[in-house]
Amino acid sequence: MKCPFCEKEMKSGVLLGDGRTKVRWEPEGTKSGLIEQLTGVGRIDAEYSWGQFRIHADYCENCKKMIFTTNISN
Ligand SMILES: [Zn+2]
Repeated sequence: MKCPFCEKEMKSGVLLGDGRTKVRWEPEGTKSGLIEQLTGVGRIDAEYSWGQFRIHADYCENCKKMIFTTNISN
């Protein structure tokens, strides 16, 4: 999809973490990024609780922004 802020093409990927490692984002199709974990590339500061999660997220390298769908309801 196109970034709504700068209109550049966003990269498709997944946001993931398991409570032991830092939350990270990986482009779609990459194997688990051990090197990225070690170097901190793709690292995101985020609060999270126990358990694994994996969220499909589109990332804009230009704006450093991500877009993902939630199912939050009121
Ligand atoms: Zn952008």
